[in-house]
Amino acid sequence: MLIIGGGIGGLTAAIALRARGFAVCVIEKHPQWQVYGVGIIQQANVIRAMHELGLLDDYLHAGFSFNEVEVAGPDGRLLARVPSPRLVEGRPSIVGISRRALHDILVQRVTQAGATIRLGLTATTLEDDGSGVTVTFSDGTTDRYAIVVGADGLYSQTRTILFPDAPPPAFAGQGVWRYNLPRPADVTCLRSYSGPVTAGLVPISDPLMYMFLTTAAPGNPRYAADEIAAAMRGKLAGGPPFIAALAEQIVDNAGVVYRPLESIFVEGPWHKGNIVLLGDAVHACTPHLGQGAGMAIEDAIVLADELAAASTAQVAFGGYQRRRYPRCQFIVDASLAICNSQLGSGPHVDHGEMTARMFEVVAQPL
Ligand SMILES: Cc1cc2nc3c(=O)[nH]c(=O)nc-3n(C[C@H](O)[C@H](O)[C@H](O)COP(=O)(O)OP(=O)(O)OC[C@H]3O[C@@H](n4cnc5c(N)ncnc54)[C@H](O)[C@@H]3O)c2cc1C
Repeated sequence: MLIIGGGIGGLTAAIALRARGFAVCVIEKHPQWQVYGVGIIQQANVIRAMHELGLLDDYLHAGFSFNEVEVAGPDGRLLARVPSPRLVEGRPSIVGISRRALHDILVQRVTQAGATIRLGLTATTLEDDGSGVTVTFSDGTTDRYAIVVGADGLYSQTRTILFPDAPPPAFAGQGVWRYNLPRPADVTCLRSYSGPVTAGLVPISDPLMYMFLTTAAPGNPRYAADEIAAAMRGKLAGGPPFIAALAEQIVDNAGVVYRPLESIFVEGPWHKGNIVLLGDAVHACTPHLGQGAGMAIEDAIVLADELAAASTAQVAFGGYQRRRYPRCQFIVDASLAICNSQLGSGPHVDHGEMTARMFEVVAQPL
């Protein structure tokens, strides 16, 4: 089986497929891993998924666990402490983790599990003759696989090959700024600030947290690499006092991660012949519910499950899509609804209520 893309979805798919006995090769287009250095929030369904993948202890050890979210108002005053449900008994409900630490855990397990990883390689053609797929690689070599999994992210080339008419990702109108900072002792869980400046602090290890800042981004501007720290500091002006006070620590241009928010949901089939898509390649959400990577990881487990149980790839892909489509569609739509509400371009959505609904949805069994 070939997996195109060594991101969170591709690597977890490799782990889940190896656990069910499939031979797996992962190709990644970058010659060296390129994982940016801030963190990610992962919730109870991801903790359940990590348990299922046999990674939970390493994962919790590498991250920062907590069981509630603090909600503060525009003046920085604490408004509520919202407990978050647990899905694995005796384990936490939310983890903040450095993306690099998560990546290291996944790569180590993929390798231990006996999958091959080939860096600096893409698939240039995929020829599916019904009984398998002949793949031509960017180094000119070819190989044949029973199944190809496209886990190549938001701008998936596999999606373009499979479904050239699928609409491309759409810019959602906001951008997110992130930066790692030393963790003050009293920041022990996700602390979110609402108001004109929407921001949050997420602990990712004992010494570190990251700040995220969501801003309207009319015209989808880009920022010069040597001025981006100043630009982020400028966006914090007028923010809640505790957050604004952290601005002076944002000095390293290379440490600022800015991303315009984009979204896609492929309606209709997520597979064709012996080729199937997962993760951001087929459903990418804005990060307002912190579930994009969670959906990719869940996809990986369900796809492996279905492939192990079904008699043909087509039956497995059908089962995979039936189990994943409604949940992923809800996450993409609900995240976008929060984004539009914050921009004033859609109906008002209560972020807290939508988060509670999201928990109900993702608590359902896979
Ligand atoms: C600002 C922001 C904040 C976010 N915060 C969170 C959060 O807190 N929690 C959460 O759960 N999610 C979050 N997400 C979403 C999360 O990052 C994505 O949903 C997740 O990374 C998707 O994983 P993936 O494997 O599908 O795609 P990716 O992570 O994009 O991985 C795709 C991989 O494929 C490789 N690739 C691409 N093209 C090719 C090719 N042609 N050949 C070979 N390899 C290729 C890429 O280099 C990459 O390694 C956030 C997203 C954004 C933008």
